[in-house]
Amino acid sequence: MIQIKTNAEVELMRVSALLVSATLTEVARFLRSGVTTMQVNELAEQFILDHQATPSFKNLYGYPYTTCISVNDAVVHGFPRDIPLKDGDIVSVDVGVYKNGFHGDSAYTFAIGAIPEASKALLRITKESLLKGIEKCVAGNRVGDISHAIFDHTEKKHGYGVVRDLVGHGLGRKLHEDPQVPNFGRKGTGSKLKEGMVLAIEPMINLGTKDVFHDADGWTIRTKDGMPSAHYEHNVCIRRQKPDVLSSFEGIEAAEKSNPNLDATYY
Ligand code: MG
Ligand code: MG
Repeated sequence: MIQIKTNAEVELMRVSALLVSATLTEVARFLRSGVTTMQVNELAEQFILDHQATPSFKNLYGYPYTTCISVNDAVVHGFPRDIPLKDGDIVSVDVGVYKNGFHGDSAYTFAIGAIPEASKALLRITKESLLKGIEKCVAGNRVGDISHAIFDHTEKKHGYGVVRDLVGHGLGRKLHEDPQVPNFGRKGTGSKLKEGMVLAIEPMINLGTKDVFHDADGWTIRTKDGMPSAHYEHNVCIRRQKPDVLSSFEGIEAAEKSNPNLDATYY
């Protein structure tokens, strides 16, 4: 069942979403070649605990960490590891926090040092597709309008692979609520968007094939052809006039641009 949030609940959700954005901003300041994704996980966990919140992912469905950190061909649900990052890596960091009874859930893909032009384009188009999906988040549209906007900009226009096995979702008192929000679909289909619905929109887009498989760790999802994958996620409240984006990339992008160890020239 789709939960409609009151205005007061949406404001609590904004606090949670912005705490995730602040966590990702800390990550953007910290990232460089040589740090391990386990160090990134520890930084994020401490930051969340320091802000009187708890990590949403840790122990959910048995997941053991605060963050999912997916490097290069890892799509999502990547286990933090003790392996150092290196120049040329792309790193998707997905974080959730639970505070005041509500979850926030956002993800961002970073480029460590200089990355190939093809990867830069993948990051740019994936981020653009998220914004195109968000544009459809107004009352009266349907979930399929969001799905189609993302698919059209990525697989149809640029030939990328849209992952079919993983989808965006409703967000609220639970991390995963109805409805599912696929990154592929037809206009005018699916649940009708109503004012006060909150969705986590999250294109997961592969440079090559759309097909993925489970790593031996049981969690990490990887592309079947070993090519890179990108992931950006925002939390959006459906409104009548225009979407209300509860999370923010502003601080993350500023930190990304002022970190000389990251490549922020892709958008
Ligand atoms: Mg997420
Ligand atoms: Mg999510």
